[in-house]
Amino acid sequence: MYQTFIGLEIHIHLLTESKVFCSCPNKYGSEPNTNICPVCTGYPGVLPSLNEEAVTKSYQVCMALNCQLNDTAVFERKNYFYPDMPKNYQISQFEFPFGIHGYFDVDLGEGNLKRIRIHDVHLEEDAGKMIHSGNRSYLDYNRAGTPLLEIVTEPDLESGEEAELFLQQFRQMVRYLGVTDGNMEEGSLRCDANVSINEAGKGLGTKTEVKNLNSSRFVRKALEYEIRRHKKVLSSGEKIIQETRLWDEDRSVTSSMRTKESSNDYRYFPEPDLPPYRPSAEFLKGIKESLIELPLDRKKRLCEEYGLSGQNLVFITAEKETADFFEETVSKGAPAKETASWLGGDVQKQVNITGTGLEASFLTPEKLSTLIIMVKEGKISQNAAKKVLSVVFDEDKDPLAVVKDLGLEQVSDTGELEKIVADIVDSNPKVAQAIREGAGKQIGFLMGQVMKATGGKANPKVAQELIKNIILKQE
Ligand SMILES: [Zn+2]
Repeated sequence: MYQTFIGLEIHIHLLTESKVFCSCPNKYGSEPNTNICPVCTGYPGVLPSLNEEAVTKSYQVCMALNCQLNDTAVFERKNYFYPDMPKNYQISQFEFPFGIHGYFDVDLGEGNLKRIRIHDVHLEEDAGKMIHSGNRSYLDYNRAGTPLLEIVTEPDLESGEEAELFLQQFRQMVRYLGVTDGNMEEGSLRCDANVSINEAGKGLGTKTEVKNLNSSRFVRKALEYEIRRHKKVLSSGEKIIQETRLWDEDRSVTSSMRTKESSNDYRYFPEPDLPPYRPSAEFLKGIKESLIELPLDRKKRLCEEYGLSGQNLVFITAEKETADFFEETVSKGAPAKETASWLGGDVQKQVNITGTGLEASFLTPEKLSTLIIMVKEGKISQNAAKKVLSVVFDEDKDPLAVVKDLGLEQVSDTGELEKIVADIVDSNPKVAQAIREGAGKQIGFLMGQVMKATGGKANPKVAQELIKNIILKQE
């Protein structure tokens, strides 16, 4: 029996106004080499200064991951040469990072939680980008010096599936915190995985590291491939070589990239231009108070408080914005379950059709609540509500006004409907007689007539009641 050990190294790009050691904009997608200055391009004699916003966001993550915080955090130089790193060293943290010994509980399904230990959380700067085209290479330093937070787990994950769940739920959490957009395609969340297997009880085996994992699905696939490969090598009596491997999505295999350098190769030493960072008690108190309810807790609360479950609960809590929108709609008087169904159903459909996110649309919790209540009170039909939704999603309009403009109000007024129904019953005496003799299905025919006469605006429940009452009265 083999035991599997998987650890993840996750890098997240922090959402800050400026870079971590200079005041250049921290922005994705600008023209190459427009967000640069002497500091982030490594001119001699320049001095870095630490961005407080990046520090604040780093500590939010540390606390959300239940880390112990070092009294003194130290920035160090990680020395290596590569063209995308103009200083020839990267400012990072090594021996004394912001946070150590944390944990994150992963939901493996049906509330079955597994605690994954966090080795450390440290802040560093990103490198620039090298773009290769034909036989030329181009350098873009816009990304150089942007704040990167690295989260290193202990090798507590035991399968590709667990690693995928960890990454998905970790991403959800940092998006809740608002510290990163977590976009894996644009590289604002990157993940490397290391894996080893060994006979059960014998501890860690020789590990390999897998890179180039741009989605949580790739993480699972690459790890599953590596685990199979390790087993094959070991069972044939050979040894695993410690190395870095690249995931090739097209071929669904990993292949050797380089044998692993040890950390000594980087000749870490404390950064002389940045003083050690000592968070004040007041600063940490402020961070603690700023922490919001995290996804796992929110899921639990929404389940208990509103009785949400299954896909509805998953959908509502996937993004903080959706959960906020849901709770606000309910606070305006809409019933919880209907609200969840609307958000997961027709509202999401509008998001998909228009390509506009909920927060960018004109729909507000107040308007959605009005709409749901109108349906519930029988003022408009479900179908009419869908029509109104598509209007108030795209335009800044009041749902009540749209209902009026489009003439969608249902006729629930018994007096008005009674007259129409009585006329229809009178002009269909044979059908009425058949219903009296037990042919319940014939009511459908009369309903059809009522709908035709009212242009589809009769409240079906009220109309049906009236038909029955009038027919019985005539008996
Ligand atoms: Zn700069």
